[in-house]
Amino acid sequence: MGRKLLTEHINVEGIETFDVYRKHGGYRSVEKALKTMTPDEVVEEVKKSGLRGRGGAGFPTGMKWSFLAKPEGVPRYLVCNADESEPGTFKDRQLMSKLPHLLIEGMITGSYALGARTSYIYIRGELLYVLRILEKAIAEAYAAGFLGENILGSGYSLDLHVHPGAGAYICGEETALLESLEGKRGNPRNKPPFPAVQGLYARPTVVNNVETIAAVVPIVNEGGDEYAKLGVGKSTGTKLISACGHLNKPGIYEIELGVPVEEFIYSDEYCGGIWKGRDLKAVVAGGSSVPILPKELILKTAAGENRLMTYESLSDGGFITGTMLGSGGFIAMDETTCIVKNTWNFSRFYHHESCGQCSPCREGTGWLEKVLHRLEHGHGSMHDIDLIVSVAKQIEGNTICPLGEAAAWPVAAAVRHFRHEFEWHVTNPKEATAPGAAYRGAPV
Ligand code: NAD
Ligand code: SF4
Repeated sequence: MGRKLLTEHINVEGIETFDVYRKHGGYRSVEKALKTMTPDEVVEEVKKSGLRGRGGAGFPTGMKWSFLAKPEGVPRYLVCNADESEPGTFKDRQLMSKLPHLLIEGMITGSYALGARTSYIYIRGELLYVLRILEKAIAEAYAAGFLGENILGSGYSLDLHVHPGAGAYICGEETALLESLEGKRGNPRNKPPFPAVQGLYARPTVVNNVETIAAVVPIVNEGGDEYAKLGVGKSTGTKLISACGHLNKPGIYEIELGVPVEEFIYSDEYCGGIWKGRDLKAVVAGGSSVPILPKELILKTAAGENRLMTYESLSDGGFITGTMLGSGGFIAMDETTCIVKNTWNFSRFYHHESCGQCSPCREGTGWLEKVLHRLEHGHGSMHDIDLIVSVAKQIEGNTICPLGEAAAWPVAAAVRHFRHEFEWHVTNPKEATAPGAAYRGAPV
């Protein structure tokens, strides 16, 4: 059993209340930081921990924090990105609804480190019940003197607000989120300038994912060096994985980074294997934005070694033989899954969610959806298969934000690894479009 740094107490009755959370050691990191550490010392511990952004990009958190411009007298902000919307990803929702005080504690400790006096949690609009849980927990933290003026007599003051989005996936992109928080339409901004220089209200801002902010709590409590002892190489600590799809035990697992993918899928400690005794066909390892990999490549690297649940091992080989850890949305597909249908389904999502600012994304996601619809419904041609790869290539690198690539890469990867399935849809349209049909033959 690996260590549970975030979820050790998640099943304790009443842990969502201040009193029970406090009884289980809650808010120690705030006491430690505000009473015994300078803000720079907190940043230093986060740097030493090797913590990387848990929202999907894996950017080193300590480095991001140290980029924050610090001109005297200028307000700066810590904004928590709780707009979890990546298909296959549902870990932050669970963390916030069960352990709201863990996030609040991380927000206080993090805001102190960054010198923020006002901080925000921007939460996905559909999660109204979680917003209410957070608001209740924030009120408890104010009442207990952990938020507001002169926290614990330290001289440090902080106000924390929760702000709901209105249901747009794009508002999870950090600059679209900031626009939305400012009351505008959630269109992504060009970067640079990065938020660390010009963020909320054009002030220096750090935007971190829920899980990243929660991880600051054990890092400050136990020290960055201790945290860095967990994991493998540059993938330190623990990571929440939301496992779904055709698994015997789908759910949310806190794993120590470095668990072999094979063990994660098949061992009883984690997902318990593929349901109904079927064989695994493919995995999308890090949420729908990352390339799909067939069974052989998700279990072993190109060099034949065990693939591990780490940032490095999952991306080993780039987009030809690798994928990404991403947001930890692990989607397993059994042998009955139709890859063409699945790819079309994801493209519908990205087309619907494109904000429409850049032509390659606005038009390209529409083309991908239309041509994939054609292929899935038995009206496609061999030329269409090359057409979607060509459209994907024209989106890549030509857009303001990563949504374009998130739409393009999975399509390119699906054709690269499962071209035979796309071709089967062209050559056997009647069979391929029968209800529940999926290609089960050997690659051609
Ligand atoms: P990114 O790599 O552009 O940026 C990562 C972070 O590092 C950002 O906060 C950025 O501001 C910062 N950064 C990067 N370079 C910097 C520099 N030079 N100076 C200062 N700061 C710098 O990636 P991103 O757009 O933040 O995230 C993309 C990822 O989000 C995707 O890979 C996907 O996995 C994930 N995603 C997650 C969800 C979800 O619901 N969790 C939804 C969609 C996408
Ligand atoms: Fe909008 Fe797509 Fe451009 Fe992102 S890539 S800014 S979602 S049009």
